[in-house]
Amino acid sequence: MDESYPLKITFREMRESGAREIPIYCRDYRCGHHVETNADGWADDVRLSDIGPRFVCERCGQRSAEVRPNFEPAKMGDNPG
Ligand SMILES: [Zn+2]
Repeated sequence: MDESYPLKITFREMRESGAREIPIYCRDYRCGHHVETNADGWADDVRLSDIGPRFVCERCGQRSAEVRPNFEPAKMGDNPG
């Protein structure tokens, strides 16, 4: 299931989508702590899925956070023709 996790995109792609803040959630559901990191601080070729393991929850100490970008998919156009 992890193979299909939709976080293969890079920070460059994410910035191009207009997103600036990335919510990162503690994997421990009992904790529920989350922080937001600024996309500007990461290199273009870093994938979103790469940064989760780097985070350590400052509340409970859990390693490996879950990254949940909240940007909207690109609009492909609603006009029928
Ligand atoms: Zn936590």
